[in-house]
Amino acid sequence: MSLPSLMYHDVIVPGQPDDSGFPGPAAAHYKMTLDLFAQHLEQLARSRLHFPDVTALRDPVSRSCLLTFDDGGASAPYIGEALAARGMTGHFFITTHRIGTHGFVEPDDLLALQRLGHVVGSHSHTHPSDISALNDAALLAQWKESRDRLQQLLGTPVIAASVPGGFYTERVARIVAETGYQYLFTSEPTARAHVVDGCQILGRYALWHDSSPDMAVALARGIGSQRERQWLAWNLKKPLKRWTRPVYQRLRRRWLGDS
Ligand SMILES: [Zn+2]
Repeated sequence: MSLPSLMYHDVIVPGQPDDSGFPGPAAAHYKMTLDLFAQHLEQLARSRLHFPDVTALRDPVSRSCLLTFDDGGASAPYIGEALAARGMTGHFFITTHRIGTHGFVEPDDLLALQRLGHVVGSHSHTHPSDISALNDAALLAQWKESRDRLQQLLGTPVIAASVPGGFYTERVARIVAETGYQYLFTSEPTARAHVVDGCQILGRYALWHDSSPDMAVALARGIGSQRERQWLAWNLKKPLKRWTRPVYQRLRRRWLGDS
């Protein structure tokens, strides 16, 4: 099955990246200004695509794209309103340990997102730096604690999750499936979905702080070579990430100021 998804993070006032989401320059790389994000939504709305919720994967309509937002930053309610005003559905993946802390959503924000028809899901409990390095028990605790908290707050089953930092492995997927989630979003730039232990695994195309509205539309519609370029860049980086993890993390810190 095939259904493209776009991966956004926070939306911010220029010069104030730490007001929403995780602080620091590495996280800021994924945060888009309010103006640029509004241009993205306008272009996407004009693209005549549908923006359904993830259950559309069961019966995909042509020209559909899923919109996802990671981390659960304080800008999520604004994003939710902006999407709803254009008839678009969003998927908001929440770092549950951060709910109610500086720069992150409040419990009421999650209820408001749900009332607007958006999907509220898990982005793990604490957003570990490399979730795939955790042992089975710690992995299960991350996904279970997060799901339990969201279900308590929302009063409905939580069916979707996204992998923090893109550290997807099949073992992560098996434990996510065991915890009861039906959909898991990764950071692999692909429109193809596959199933692990009954859980649908969906890739996503990333948008960064300086990605143009045209790029979002090209990725959503599969026009031009943007999808192939992301796929190639991801696959060139993957072996570096997997086999030289300490070196990769040191380089990442140097390039992006990650900590
Ligand atoms: Zn994240």
